This record gives sequence, C-alpha cells and structure tokens, in this order.
Amino acid sequence: MSTTPTVVLSGVHSGPNPSPGLGLARSLRLAWPRLRLEALDYSPRSTGLSASEFDRTHIRPGWHTADLGALCTGLVSIVESTGAVFLPGLDLEAALLAERVPGHPALLLPPAAAFDVVAKPGETAASLLGLAVPEHRFAEGVEDAADFAARHGWRIWVKGPRYEAVAATTRAELAAALERVRATWGAECLLQRHVAGTEESVVFAALDGELLGACAMRKTMVTSEGKTWAGAVDHLDHATRARLIDLVRVTRWTGGGEVEFVRETDTGIPYLLEVNPRFPAWIHGATLAGVNLPARLVAAATGIPRGEREKAHSTGFVRVVEEIPAGPHATGAVPLAHRVVASEPAALGKHPSGMPVLSRRLTPARPRPRPTPVDPVRAADIAAALVVDPYESPARVLFGGVLDRGLDRLAAVCRDVEDATGVPTRFAYSVKTNPDPRVLDAVLRRGALVEAISQAEARRCAEAGFPGDRVVLGGPAKWWRFDGGPVKFGAVFCDSVTDLERTVDLLAQGAVYADVVGLRLAPPTVASRFGVDLTCPRAYRRVAEVLRAAPLGRIGLQFHHAASQIGLRAWLREYTAAITVAADLLARVDVRARCVDLGGGWPPGLSRAELGSQLTRASRVAVRELGSLDQVLFEPGKYLVERAMAVFTTVLDVRDGTHGRAAVVDASIAELPDWVSHPHPVLWRAPGAGWRRLPAGDESVLGRLCMEHDRPRAGITLPEGIAPGDHLLFLDAGAYDASMSYRFGV
Ligand SMILES: *Cc1c(COP(=O)(O)O)cnc(C)c1O
Repeated sequence: MSTTPTVVLSGVHSGPNPSPGLGLARSLRLAWPRLRLEALDYSPRSTGLSASEFDRTHIRPGWHTADLGALCTGLVSIVESTGAVFLPGLDLEAALLAERVPGHPALLLPPAAAFDVVAKPGETAASLLGLAVPEHRFAEGVEDAADFAARHGWRIWVKGPRYEAVAATTRAELAAALERVRATWGAECLLQRHVAGTEESVVFAALDGELLGACAMRKTMVTSEGKTWAGAVDHLDHATRARLIDLVRVTRWTGGGEVEFVRETDTGIPYLLEVNPRFPAWIHGATLAGVNLPARLVAAATGIPRGEREKAHSTGFVRVVEEIPAGPHATGAVPLAHRVVASEPAALGKHPSGMPVLSRRLTPARPRPRPTPVDPVRAADIAAALVVDPYESPARVLFGGVLDRGLDRLAAVCRDVEDATGVPTRFAYSVKTNPDPRVLDAVLRRGALVEAISQAEARRCAEAGFPGDRVVLGGPAKWWRFDGGPVKFGAVFCDSVTDLERTVDLLAQGAVYADVVGLRLAPPTVASRFGVDLTCPRAYRRVAEVLRAAPLGRIGLQFHHAASQIGLRAWLREYTAAITVAADLLARVDVRARCVDLGGGWPPGLSRAELGSQLTRASRVAVRELGSLDQVLFEPGKYLVERAMAVFTTVLDVRDGTHGRAAVVDASIAELPDWVSHPHPVLWRAPGAGWRRLPAGDESVLGRLCMEHDRPRAGITLPEGIAPGDHLLFLDAGAYDASMSYRFGV
C-alpha cells in the first residue's frame, strides 16, 4: 500500500472527441498538487497517455483480444494494489465494471441499475428530471427509418446505443448512417427527431445516492461533430437541483455524470438528449469556473483532506490544441494486436480506447432474421395482379385493390375536411407522378380532378375522358408546345410573374378559358425553384400591378412543397407564411381569392386522419386569412399511387460478397429509377411457395446492368434458400419509379 493517495483514471484520449481522463487529471492536480495520478487505457494510441499530469500509465490489452472477466479483474487489481480509487472515463467500461464488480468501494461509478435508468432514450431519467424526450424509434431497417424520417421532415439523428449520433437529412444519408452505426456498435440504432435549439449540459458528482455538487454549462462553440469546444458555466437553478437530487437518490448514483439536453427554440421545451454515466470531457471547464467536482468526489470517497478552496478563474472556458512530447509507448511500433483493429478504417484514430469492439462484444448475437408472411389483404392484391404464370419478367404490376382503397381514402379525406371546415373539398391527382391510363381512368370514374404540368399531359387527360374543367394546369412549362387553343381548364396556376403576364394575355386573347386563375406561392424560408415569393417586395409589387391591370375574376392560390421532404410541421409553417402575405396583397388590390390548392408530396404512410387534419388546418388558415372560399383542392401524387404498383423480377444469380450475399435479378434501376428516394420493401417467393417479406440486414439485391450503382435494394437479409429462378417483388414502385422508368440494356 502506498502512503501517497493515488487515483487511477481511464479513458485519457485527447482528440476532436476527447475522453474525460485528462480533464479529470487536471482538476485533481489543481486540488492536490502531490496526488499520484495513473492513466489507464486500451491502446498506446490514446494520446493523453503522454501527458505530464500522469505519474504512471497502464496500457491494457485491447477489448478484441482479452477475456472481459480477466480485464475487469486486472483493472481491479491495479486499483487495489496501489490503494487507489478509480474514476472511469469510458461509458461501456463503467457499465461492464458495474455489472462484473458490483459495489466495489474503490470504483467510483454508478450501480448497474443506474445504467438501465439512463439507457437511451432515457425516458425514466427524463421523467425524474422533468424533461421531455424527443420523438424516437428503434430501427433495424431503412424502411421503418425512412418512414420515421419523413414524419419528422428529414431532420433526424441516428444514434448508437451509447456513443455516436449521426444526422440524416436524405435517404442516402440515412441508409449510410444506419449501416455505419450498426456495423460500428453492433446494436440496434435509435432514431430521434432533431430538436432545434440551444444545447445545455448539467454535470454532477455523487456518492452513494447523495449529490456532492453540480453546475450547468451552455455550449458556446461546438465542433462539426457537435462536441463542446467552448462553454459558459453557471449555477444550477433550484428546481433543476431538486430534480437532480431525486435522480441521484433513486439511482443510488456514485461517480460523475452529465445530463445533456436541448431547449427547443420554438416551444421553450427542454428535451433530454442523453445522460452520461461519467464526467464529461469538458469537466475541467467547470473546475476553472470554481466547481471542482472530481475533487469533491475523491475527497468524499477517500477522506483525503482538501488543501485549497475552490476558486473561480472565469465563468467560461475554451479549448486549445497543444503539442506535447510523446511518451515512449506512443513513438514505438504499434503492437500487432492493435493493428488488427486498425484494419477497420479510422477505428484507431477515432476510438483508441476500443469502445466499438467492446460494444459489439456486449451486444448479444441475434439469430438471423427470417422472411415474414405477408398479410392476407396484400396476398390477395398480389394474387389478383399476377394472374398468369410464368410471368413476363421483369414486369411492373398494378394492384387494383390498393388503388381503389387509396381513392376511397382520398374521398373520405375530402369529406372529413369539408365537414370540419364547411368548404367544398376535392382532389386533383398529379398526372406526372404516374400517367398510366388505368390510374387516370380510376381517378376519372371517382369524379376527381387531375393536375397536369404540360399540354401533352393535358391532352392525355382529355383522351382519358377528363373534361377541361376537371384539369388543373400548373408548372413552369405549361405553355410549351401550346397549339393556340382555344382550350378550357378548371384552374391555371402561374409559376412566376412573367408566367402570370403571359397567361393573362392568353386569357385576354380568348385562347384559354379557366374557371380559376391563380398564382403558385413559393415557400418563404425553404429553398425552392417554384412559385412566386411574395415576401420579396419586388415580386409583391409586380404581382399587385398585374392584378390591378387585369381583373381576373376567380383568383386561386396554390402552395406545393413536398411534405415528404420537409415534414408536415414545416409544410404548415411555410404555407401559413406564404398565404398570410398573399392575403395582404389581395386585400390591397381589392381582390378576393376563391380557391386554395394544396399540393403536398404527401407521404404514402399518412393515415386518413393525419392527412385530413393537415388539410383541415391548412383550410382553416386559408379561411382566416382570405375569407370564405368556394373550394379547397389538394394534389395527391405518390400518396395515391406509390403503393399501387410493384416490380416483379426473377433471381439470376446468388453470390457471396465481402458483405454477406447478394442476389442478382433481371430488373434494375431502369425499372426502379426512384430507388434513392424511398426504400422498396422486397417480397420473395420460391417456386410453388407463397410470398414472404425480406427482413432488414446487411445484404443486397443487385440489378442486371453493368453499373456500380445498380443496386436497387441494400439493407435486407436474403433467405437461406434463395436460388436462381426464385422471384422477388419490389413493392412501392407505383410513383416516380413508374413515370421515370426507362429502357436500358434490354
Ligand atoms: C408533383 C406535384 C404533386 C404531386 O407530388 P407527389 O410528390 O407525387 O405527391 C402535386 N402538386 C404539384 C404542383 C406537383 O408538381
């Protein structure tokens, strides 16, 4: 037993995303200049091992080689042999020790049950702390994940079980993030809505359920990864302290901890991001502000008397980068054991303490997921669509039942909106989404309208039987190849001021008749190439001039931006802002709007109630701003047709690759050109068997084309018995996959 008190600290890497060990060492040194400090880490690449703060360093075997039990025993014997206490700097190491060496008085870490309370998304901890939890979902595959992302306007985070959070704003980013987070950490990913606001932290220290101290920190500078680079330190308010005392008492917390949360700018609601079961890397910033929590913890745990009083050097801290002499372990050759990990790209530079390896080892192996049965309604739809056997392959098939039920749902949404607002409501199907004559015919028979963006589309609608007054014409190229008319439309929406002027001319000449003439409004704060942004004073003035000069009769306003991209909330916000300024303009020129047309890019997963309530809200905004209306229109495209078609295909080859197996099929991205915008669920059928749905995983389906990116589906698990001659059915291929498909290699 040494007579000088000793503290062993793990997790001492200092990089762009540092561990707390070095900060802890500095804080403890400030309290006790002669305290013996020993650093412990799992690779010589951990840069803090070279720091002069440490009297001794221990490089432990990496997590991939060692027996976990032996690693824990070894660590405990290092601590016990020097009579030291141990402060962990690595979450997973702390969790492992809590489980394997419960209640050891020298290990200053929370008990195992506390780790469960704070496990992401941390609902129990949040309720104890009086914080909300952002909307979240655990996701295996990209299908669920894309649905969640669309609901939250493609502003979401993909989080690892303990570490790492990756922002995803597109489907490609989402797929890559899921793959990477799962490959790195092993476990399921947590998806969480992005909360726009300021990030704050509370750091605390506790011993046996008793709070020893805490303070708050607001990030004033962050790195591109969102890590703290500078912060302002403050006292805790009374209420927060009381809540924290509860959390610490209920969990019988020992050791350091950090609560990270974000206060949403729009609502003021604080949302929990995570609770870390250790001190944060910026801990020395709190010490410099006069709250030395590591020293309080060590003093309370060991009884070492504190020499100096805590002293505030400032109320904020900044980080700097500093070169220091490398220690002997850091300059030598990298031992073979560590090179094994280095074969994973960037693993050593980013995670020298080996947490990904430990995380994967701690994740229980899951059985290989099997294909699941399809529900009877879907099975009946497929049976009705695939009537002859063998089929032409590849082939696009229409599910008449899905289309019919979609039309029923749209009719019901119209009734719901009408009942709620009193304004007659109809929909105009977007022809460009899928101009298949069978789709147009089904829409026609329901008495609905169509929305066309070219003269060719308008002619196609006429051929399908639509009278002119059931055609809405919009888009920037609506007069391209115009034959001079005369022609009639239900409504014409102009995409720019010049388009409005040209349309007014055509109306004046008698070349065009329209029940409603109007303007497409651009979203004011989301970038869009379409419509007129009336919040721009010049556009506002020019539109006002045109409307004063040419009394247009029935005026309409159209707003379209893909809700599947920006989310329903942002859609309503942009729409409301655009309608409000348009209402102001119309009042000035003394013109009444009679109709609003709500384009939407509505995601196919929305229920009747969700779409109905969005449209009801939008209609109410219109009535409030514009006065009573004759009609509300809305423009479903993919909402109606995406799920109404599938691509039927035959397996040509099943091969082994570096990432599991891949099936090569006779379809390709020429038949599925929209494969990037949404994941297509895949069904599989062996000869003579029924269709089954393929679960999430790491395998792929490759197309027939000689193009690297002809991989219409990744992130699935192929069935054990899949073989050439089996069939696959790519679902949800009825929207732009249909209208944009092309001939290639056939
Ligand atoms: C394309 C389009 C739609 C339909 O969009 P989807 O994404 O297919 O739902 C609706 N309105 C307008 C103005 C469009 O250009």
